[in-house]
Amino acid sequence: MIRRMTELLLKGGRIIDPMTDHDSTGDLLIRDGVIVAISTTPLTSADETIDCEGCIVSPGLIDIHVHFRDPDESGHHEETIATGTAAAAAGGFTTVCCMPNTTPAIDSCTVVDAIRKRAAAAAQARVFAVACGTVGRRGETLSPILDLVEAGAIAISDDGDGIADSGMMQRILSLVAAADSVFMQHCQDPTLTRDAAMNAGALATRLGLGGWPREAEELMLRRDLVLNRSIGARYHAQHLSVAESVSALREARSEGQPATGEASPHHLLLTEDACDNWNTLAKVNPPLRTSADIEAIKSGIAEGIITVLATDHAPHPAASKDTDFASAAFGMVGLECALPLYREALIDDGVLDWPAMLGMMTCEAAAVAGLDQLGLGRLEVGGPADVTVIDPDAAWAIDPSQFHSTGRNCPFAGRMATGRALATIVDGRITASAIEGRALAR
Ligand SMILES: [Zn+2]
Repeated sequence: MIRRMTELLLKGGRIIDPMTDHDSTGDLLIRDGVIVAISTTPLTSADETIDCEGCIVSPGLIDIHVHFRDPDESGHHEETIATGTAAAAAGGFTTVCCMPNTTPAIDSCTVVDAIRKRAAAAAQARVFAVACGTVGRRGETLSPILDLVEAGAIAISDDGDGIADSGMMQRILSLVAAADSVFMQHCQDPTLTRDAAMNAGALATRLGLGGWPREAEELMLRRDLVLNRSIGARYHAQHLSVAESVSALREARSEGQPATGEASPHHLLLTEDACDNWNTLAKVNPPLRTSADIEAIKSGIAEGIITVLATDHAPHPAASKDTDFASAAFGMVGLECALPLYREALIDDGVLDWPAMLGMMTCEAAAVAGLDQLGLGRLEVGGPADVTVIDPDAAWAIDPSQFHSTGRNCPFAGRMATGRALATIVDGRITASAIEGRALAR
């Protein structure tokens, strides 16, 4: 259910805007979808008020890496823009960027346009399409990158696969630079990962599973950064999983390359040990690695080398996981538990404070995808009223059966979580609320 109103007052919260280093207790007033006041002195409203005492009032959370499986002509019906945006709203996200491994793939302006129309109808979160670098994500024929960006694609990626061919990658980077867009790379050298199911090592050997070498990620990342030296396209490395990737990104950024990187909750909280006993819920691409990799990614975050926290939300039907490990699908859902998981990994561990962590989920994410141009990722008087009210201390147990996503494939089921979205507001409308102790989304 979406409640419509003209005026909404968020009262007495800790208002954090990482973009401007604003951090003060006060009131935030929204009128007709626009933030009209941010004040340390009390404001009044004629319409609706949310008591935000003890809560954080943040710019709406942005996830630049989700899989909504929409369009889906495969008949699997794993997720739709409607269920995906309901999940986003419940998790505190107001904007998501959808990856192009759909059926058909997002490789034409027609598909970009169809997603935009469906997103407008769903209206629980802003949805932006990431379009393919190659036709059908097959890595063989260049897609019409300039036209796709013109049609509204927010970024270019073949996510699910990396661009294996170096010549193709060079052409893509050149076109992405010409379009002033960003390329988001899924770093995986496919010649090293045939039949790979989990991190290469002793555990994979004991479980009898194909090993996924860490070099598969570093090699593609380093190749891209070498190619991009003379091109200078905006380049974003998705879901980093190994320590060597952090080093590669550090070097490129120190050379002045416009390269960014992203972390995902599972790569910060789980190691390959979660795959023991052939636990298919822990099967993900790239695979879970080691505790040393987790520490390196945290260092990269603390140093500001990795600037974005995403989810790689990847829903699958139960049958895709309820099978043997080698045959099971890669991926896990993330939108509805990312916020407390990031709190656990980064704030509770002393890596970041709330303003710094929220910056990686708002203005930094917006900057990578160019969403800052639309006024997203910040709290600004006169700007769009995308706001997330967070109860930082709400304690709850993660229960995938309660998720709005159709995906139940979550390795964190049963884990105690601290922190959750109390209200999610998009364009001044409440899209999800736990104010009365239950989610009102959908
Ligand atoms: Zn990926």
